Amino acid sequence: MIIRLIIFAVVFYVGLKLYGLYRQRKLEHEEQRNKVNHHEGGKMVRCRWCDVHVPEEEALRDQAQWFCSSAHRDRFLQEQQDKDGTP
Ligand SMILES: [Zn+2]
Repeated sequence: MIIRLIIFAVVFYVGLKLYGLYRQRKLEHEEQRNKVNHHEGGKMVRCRWCDVHVPEEEALRDQAQWFCSSAHRDRFLQEQQDKDGTP
């Protein structure tokens, strides 16, 4: 009875591992395809705060402005607020 349980556990474990491998492969494949697409039609945008160029899909957008990170977006917005004089 215990041997049966062990065999069942091993089969279950192997199946789970195979399924994980299969999923990983699929994900990697899709990632590669996405990368190729980005290289073909990838658009670069400039961070409004530090002038660094970043791919559009990695950049953050706030209205018409682009930012390389949320930190820079927040800083830019903060400065805008300071200029306006609104608290
Ligand atoms: Zn930036």
